Amino acid sequence: MSYASQVKSELLQIENEACCEVSLARGLLLFGRECSPASISILTENGEIAAAYARAARLFCGHTPDIHVSESGNFKVVIDNRGETDAILGEVLMRGLNQKKQLTIGTIDRECCRAAFIRGAFLASGTVTDPDREYHLEFSCPSGNLAQELQALIRTFEIEMKLTRRGGANILYLKKSGDIEDLLMHMGASESSMMLMGSKMYKDVRNTVNRRVNFENANIARSIAAAGKQLDAIERIEKHGGLAQLTPELRELAELRIENPDLSTGEIGKLLSEPLTLSGVNHRFKKLIRIAEDIE
Ligand SMILES: [Zn+2]
Repeated sequence: MSYASQVKSELLQIENEACCEVSLARGLLLFGRECSPASISILTENGEIAAAYARAARLFCGHTPDIHVSESGNFKVVIDNRGETDAILGEVLMRGLNQKKQLTIGTIDRECCRAAFIRGAFLASGTVTDPDREYHLEFSCPSGNLAQELQALIRTFEIEMKLTRRGGANILYLKKSGDIEDLLMHMGASESSMMLMGSKMYKDVRNTVNRRVNFENANIARSIAAAGKQLDAIERIEKHGGLAQLTPELRELAELRIENPDLSTGEIGKLLSEPLTLSGVNHRFKKLIRIAEDIE
């Protein structure tokens, strides 16, 4: 099951308070495919959403419209009987008709009912990407007017959605994982919200571990390269006059390096009879390397 289907199935399981039923139904009907006097309809791949939409319509027109299944397996609910569309728009939705005679959401006083409205709108027009892939949640709104109103309604939960147009559709969207978590939580999809949080935490931990591993690998590579250069120098000195020509400090260092080819420069420093800091031992190795270079 996709993450979006999981969110929707969680939202469909919520038992609505009596006060929220109407808000949920308004969200579903307003954000379906069409909502006009000629036709009120939804086209969805989710049969449960089609059933919820049909129940919402019954709430306002007194009769449950049929659910049609297309050959491709999509579910369609259409109310095109003028008496019924008028009943739906007139009795409930048009109550929020603005001066330009556009459908409006109007004010919804109770917080629980605002959340229920957003839930309905999301079931009808929303989608959310699997958080393992990317953070993206959107509503594809039937009109610019409704998109702006939904944006304002969601703003009452202190979440700022962005508005854009894509292929003639009015898209309200979120890209920040924290905002998506919050909106899912307000809509009532708390399990899905937690899953998103978990997935983000997992990604953060994985990134930290990867950075750490890369950092350590780079250190190991550097350390191996340094030891190789030191051993080359020592080998050249051995071949040209031997280690006996070195001062006792340099000779001890060369012998320790030959015995411990895998140790880092710093670790060699600690093994000296008079231990040195990393910069001290580095300085001493530089002398060895210069002597080897002078042999040429
Ligand atoms: Zn309510």
